[in-house]
Formats: sequence, C-alpha cells, structure tokens
Amino acid sequence: MHAEIIAIGSELLTPFKQDTNSLFLTEKLNLLGVSVAFKVVVGDERAHLVDVARNATKRSDIVIFMGGLGPTEDDLTRECVAEALSISLHPDPEQIAALYTRFAARQIPMPQNNAKQADLLDGAVMLRNSRGTAPGQYVVREVEGRRRMVILLPGPPQELKPMTEQVMPVLREFVPPNHFARRMLRLAMIPESQADAIAAPIYTKRSDVQTTILASAGEVQLHLLASGVSVGEAQAKVDSLADDLDAAFGLTVYSTEGEPLEEIVGLHLGMRGLTLAVAESCTGGMLGQRLTSLPGSSRWFVGGAIVYSNELKTKFCGVPAELIEQHGAVSKEVARAMAEGIRVVSGASVGVGVTGIAGPGGATEDKPVGLVYVAVADERGTEFVERNLPGDRELIRRWATQQALDLVRRRITE
Ligand code: AMP
Ligand code: MG
Repeated sequence: MHAEIIAIGSELLTPFKQDTNSLFLTEKLNLLGVSVAFKVVVGDERAHLVDVARNATKRSDIVIFMGGLGPTEDDLTRECVAEALSISLHPDPEQIAALYTRFAARQIPMPQNNAKQADLLDGAVMLRNSRGTAPGQYVVREVEGRRRMVILLPGPPQELKPMTEQVMPVLREFVPPNHFARRMLRLAMIPESQADAIAAPIYTKRSDVQTTILASAGEVQLHLLASGVSVGEAQAKVDSLADDLDAAFGLTVYSTEGEPLEEIVGLHLGMRGLTLAVAESCTGGMLGQRLTSLPGSSRWFVGGAIVYSNELKTKFCGVPAELIEQHGAVSKEVARAMAEGIRVVSGASVGVGVTGIAGPGGATEDKPVGLVYVAVADERGTEFVERNLPGDRELIRRWATQQALDLVRRRITE
C-alpha cells in the first residue's frame, strides 16, 4: 500500500515558496507503515488538477490533496477532485451554519463565495478546521476495482497540521497493520562505487530490506528500510542486514546508528580519557566547528589554531620556517609538524594538522588543487595521509575535515 501527496498552488511552482506540508505528511504516513510513492506539485489550473487527480486515484491507495480549498476563484481542489472521481458535490448544512457563525462572531456578513467551502463530496466526511474557514474532508471510493482513500486538507501549515490528527485514526483503520524500521550505516573515506561493490552482493540478496546508498564528501551512507507486521519484525530485518554489512566493511564503518563522525570521534576520545587539539590551515576552523558543534565536547576537545599563513604556522605551532621553506606549506612534513606542534603547545593527548590546496587558485605543477595532507600525532608518534580530493573549494574543505576526523578515529581505535 502506498500514498501520493499532491500540493496545489501556483505559488509552489515559483522559486519563492516551497511545499513543506508534504514532509510533515510523509512522516505521519510512515508512522503508519505507509510509504509515499509520488509527490506532485500542481498549479491552480483546472485541467492540470483534474489530470493529476485522475492519475493519482488510479495508481495510489491513499491520495492526499492539500491547498486550494479557499473561497477564491483559483481554489479548485474540491471541484476538480469531484470531476476526476465522477462524484457530485453538495452543500453540507452543518458546515454552512458553521461558516455563518464564524462570520457572525467577527460581525461581518459572509461573502457569497465562502459558501463553496461548505461543499462536500458525496459520501465524504467533513474534517473540522478550527483555525480557518476551509474545512477538509475525506472519502473512500472504488477506482477501477480498488479502494482508494482520498483526503482534502487546506494549505496553510498551521491548519493542516492539527487537521492531520483528525485523519490519523481513519487512516489507521484503512491501512493494514504495518510498521517501518530504519538503520543508517555510515562509512568514511571510501568511494561510492567501491562501497557498492562490497555492499551490493549482500543487500541484493535481501529483498525484504530496501537499501539506498548516498554519497557525500568523504562519506557513504547506507540507508536500510524494512517493514513488518510489528516493529520487532521490521527491526529484526534491518538489524540482520546491518550486521552483515558492518562485518563486510570492518573498520570503514564508523557508525551503525547514524551518528556523525565528529560524535563518534568524541565518544572514543571520551571513553579513553584522551583530549584533542587541531591546527588548521586550508579548513580554516571547519574542523574545530564540527567538533564543537557537539554539546559536551569540552570534555575532550581543548581547542586549536587557524594557522593560515606560514608565519602563524611557525608562531602558534612551532613549525620551523626552514621546513616550510624546504617542502612548502602544503607538504607531509608541515602537516606532521603542525600536528606535533599543536599537541605540544596545547598539552592535548592527540594533535591534528591539516594543510592543503582548496583552490581554485594556488596549484603548482606538482601540487594540484585538492592535494591535502592530514597528520595525527599522539604519544606513540605521528602518522599522515596524502589525498587528492575532488570537487570545489567547499567540498575539498569539507572532505579534508572528514579525512582528519577519520584518521583520528582510526588511530585511537587501533
Ligand atoms: P490555499 O489552501 O491554497 O489557500 O493555501 C494557502 C497558503 O498555504 C498558501 O499561500 C501557502 O502559503 C500555504 N501552503 C499551501 N500549500 C502549502 C504546502 N504544500 N506547503 C507549505 N505551505 C503551503
Ligand atoms: Mg492556493
């Protein structure tokens, strides 16, 4: 069983207004174990709306229309749904009375065009709207031999949200019992294609779990989704696949519950009573920003330095000027010296140094844009990695922070 959500309003087809209601509704539907198969945004255009309504009620079990229930000429949802389903509309006496009362309370006469808001599809049940004049409604109809639940809700989020609560019990009755469970595995510093080469042989055998791979800077996420007649059954499905994938990827998996890398690094540091300091050149504080975005990070993060110029690399991290002269600021030697220097200066147990060419300028013959060195120093010594990172300036910088965090994670969990 799947749902379709239709957002109606020409303003939603401009660059200025987004359909946010569908995100709210999707979450509610998912809670009932119903997935959303289609989302449509359509303007206030009679022919288009009828067309969308016909398609939707043919292909989806639950169809939610939102918007276009107001009193004006361009509010066409009721009429168009009626036309698409070949149902007639009739004024609902109770709703007419409610509209009159509402206007009387404000001591203004009811404009005639508000009356159409009291129109109900034959067989439909009215949904009260305590925050506006447009009531909603729902109706269950057979379309081409299959039962469809059709729901109409007003567009303003502050009206739609409370009205969704009225619909939930009705939806729960309509939907066969079904529950979702999700897991997210996160992998660091592995190309998407390589991740899929390892994961695909495992997840393609599991038709009971839907697997989606998403890649971003220095990160691959494996999203697992399963459904079952109980939460436990759905959970067991995703858990067993998560276990298999976790085993196949080994140390590349940094999180099996979706936590971000900085949180995992903090967790490991905290568990071992270690502290961390960073010396950042090309990332300009982004690494420190990620680490301090976590509440409680002061327990394991002592701070760092943004050492963008050569002078500050020397002044704040004790990187010898001759070393920079000899190897260049973007070099493994300088990255190592930065990591070791910030560790000594700060007194932290672990020091990190990041230096690289974020571009678009600054490349030389032997040092291309994207070349990044990351080093980690601790009491056992110093290690570094050299990377040629892809993408634009922001992506390279983000990727470099990911590499730095992953190197720390691997070093302290070794
Ligand atoms: P309507 O029900 O078409 O009169 O919509 C009234 C107002 O609700 C619009 O002007 C929008 O500001 C808002 N709205 C309508 N649809 C949506 C939507 N899908 N997501 C967020 N806001 C919406
Ligand atoms: Mg509208």
